[in-house]
Amino acid sequence: MRNPSYDILFEPAKIGPLTAKNRFYQVPHCNGGGYRDPSAVAAMRGVKAEGGWGVIFTEQTEMHHTSEITPFIEQRLWDDADIPALRRMSDAMKTNGALAGIQLAYSGINGPNLYTKEVPLAPSALPIRTFTNDPVQARAMDKTDIRDLRRWFVNAAKRSKIAGFDLICLYGAHGFGIFQHFLSRATNQRTDEYGGSLENRARFVNEVIADMRDAVGDTMGITLRVSLDETIGQLGFSNAEVREFIEMNADLPDLWDLAQGTWEDCSGPSRFKEEAAQEVLVNGIRELTSKPVVGVGRFTSPDVMARLVRQGVLDFIGCARPSIADPFLPKKIEEGRIEDIRECIGCNICITGDMTMSISRCTQNPTFMEEWRKDWHPETMNAKGGSSNALIVGAGPAGLEAARALAVRGYDVALAEAGTELGGRVARERLLPGLSAWGRVVDYRSYQLSQRANAETYFDSRLTAQDILEFGFENVCIATGSHWRADGVSRQHVVPMPADPAMPVFTPDDIMAGQLPKGEVVLFDDDHYYMGGVIAELLAKAGCKVTFVTPSAYVSDWTLNTLEQAAIHKRLVEAGVKIVLNTGIAELKAGEVVTECTYTGQTSAIGCEAVVMVASRISDDALYHELKAREDEWADAGIKSVKLIGDAAAPGPIAWATYAGHRYARELDMPDIGDALPFRREVTQLA
Ligand code: ADP
Ligand code: SF4
Repeated sequence: MRNPSYDILFEPAKIGPLTAKNRFYQVPHCNGGGYRDPSAVAAMRGVKAEGGWGVIFTEQTEMHHTSEITPFIEQRLWDDADIPALRRMSDAMKTNGALAGIQLAYSGINGPNLYTKEVPLAPSALPIRTFTNDPVQARAMDKTDIRDLRRWFVNAAKRSKIAGFDLICLYGAHGFGIFQHFLSRATNQRTDEYGGSLENRARFVNEVIADMRDAVGDTMGITLRVSLDETIGQLGFSNAEVREFIEMNADLPDLWDLAQGTWEDCSGPSRFKEEAAQEVLVNGIRELTSKPVVGVGRFTSPDVMARLVRQGVLDFIGCARPSIADPFLPKKIEEGRIEDIRECIGCNICITGDMTMSISRCTQNPTFMEEWRKDWHPETMNAKGGSSNALIVGAGPAGLEAARALAVRGYDVALAEAGTELGGRVARERLLPGLSAWGRVVDYRSYQLSQRANAETYFDSRLTAQDILEFGFENVCIATGSHWRADGVSRQHVVPMPADPAMPVFTPDDIMAGQLPKGEVVLFDDDHYYMGGVIAELLAKAGCKVTFVTPSAYVSDWTLNTLEQAAIHKRLVEAGVKIVLNTGIAELKAGEVVTECTYTGQTSAIGCEAVVMVASRISDDALYHELKAREDEWADAGIKSVKLIGDAAAPGPIAWATYAGHRYARELDMPDIGDALPFRREVTQLA
């Protein structure tokens, strides 16, 4: 039964001419699939409808071909040809009474138009502002362009209606949408009636909303997404000016959708941002308007959600990542199943799908974006196959997810763990600075396993091949993980780097086990994800004098994709870490490392007492190979299958491990598909 203090989250609320059934509002979010994978995206949104969201939005939708953000893959509504794919999405969104929303974006100063080759249009002529510093500039819009753009918005609104949407979100946040470009003095330096005073800068959005109201406002709700603070210095659209704007235009949209600042702020990872981090920026805004307000904050706690609505801070609880990690979040609150919520860990792996133009993953929800491609559902498993039991060896994220999902599928599961706790690498990494929320990967799964009569966990059980052959399980899944290597092998060195044994070398595993170097330390990062930066932070806090050396041009290079690279660099500088970029290590000597410029090969030396090697990991797959070597004994032992998964197969991020565990559980006992493709896809139709 639902806790009555959450009732307020289930009260209907009006948005323009429409009523949302509850306060759970899935704000627009990317997914790396976009226009390339229309059915995959539609099915993903459909699962959210099933999970009880009152409002469900598309990702950013390019509403005209003169403004697009290639290489990033979002939605397009360039002409009528795009309507059917979007119609598929809105149909899926509306299956359980949710309102279906489309986010219309004209990217202006953010759209380099690499695909359409059109000259970008923006309020003022400036270089295009993207992640990739494209060598493209925008032309300043003249009055004809402004009239054209108003008409294009009306056309897009009419097409949105035909495509079945109830709500339109006008994108003016994160630096990505033209409404913000007009509102901000940084990107609007016009001297005509569209620039200068706030009233003038707000003219364009007022005109567009008035036009749209005339066109579709009788049946559709029009929302406006603005950033609470542009956070780009004095000229930016500050929180004070946002408040002034809302006060002056209190009834402008049917709902105010308040994002944080830049996308990096708004989707801040848990390492740098707490749940509800934008509360100070949003507090009091609702009093400035009679229209409802939605805000975000990586909300996973129903107590926080209910408090924000009760206190009148927000009318709707906006969620992107929490709705990815658990599309059934509203339903679980409604049914009083709080413990079953799969809380977002704030790792931003989902965002990497968009940033790498691949397709998104979620660390916590391995079924994300596989709802259509693989027919995976976040809450239900496929029917049990012919065998009845499985032994999972290793309780890291791969083994835990395999055990959980197999137990749900109905198998008798034994989970054997060499150590004394669940979680494998996550049990250790959750103790690193800023990573405690990552422990939710373990907490969710250990609770779910504890609720299952058909799953048993055995600790202190470092199994050998002999043990496994004696147990007699039908299926054996080896998820024994990996360990960090000390010999420097990674990208710069594909064979061990020359090293004098007199130089002490530590790995992240040593440090997580509490063995810390002292004094002056060189940390070599040729891994490029979070580990090097986190360990540098830990060592600096522990009093070491750390020099961070990396062959890359960036600290923690790959975290550009998780939107945290700048925050990591800042944190290391503030912690006193010396950063040496574009530099490899040629050799470890007693008392110093010999560095090497990535470009010129020029060598130099840094004196130090120890080296921390954040290079790559080696799979712990010996057990698997021992079992493989005894394959002729399997039949007598009753073994039908042995599979190697997760880091033990090939080390990767935690999301790769939960995916591997889930996939194992889905595919056990399934017919061999031979050489067929293991997922569905849509292939472009030839003209
Ligand atoms: P992954 O990320 O693939 O899940 P982890 O390294 O996080 O891998 O977890 C692997 C787990 O397997 C660790 O908790 C480790 O203690 C356990 N393990 C390794 N070898 C054995 C073994 N022979 N028997 C039981 N557990 C093992
Ligand atoms: Fe949350 Fe990480 Fe999943 Fe994104 S990938 S929804 S941040 S758990």
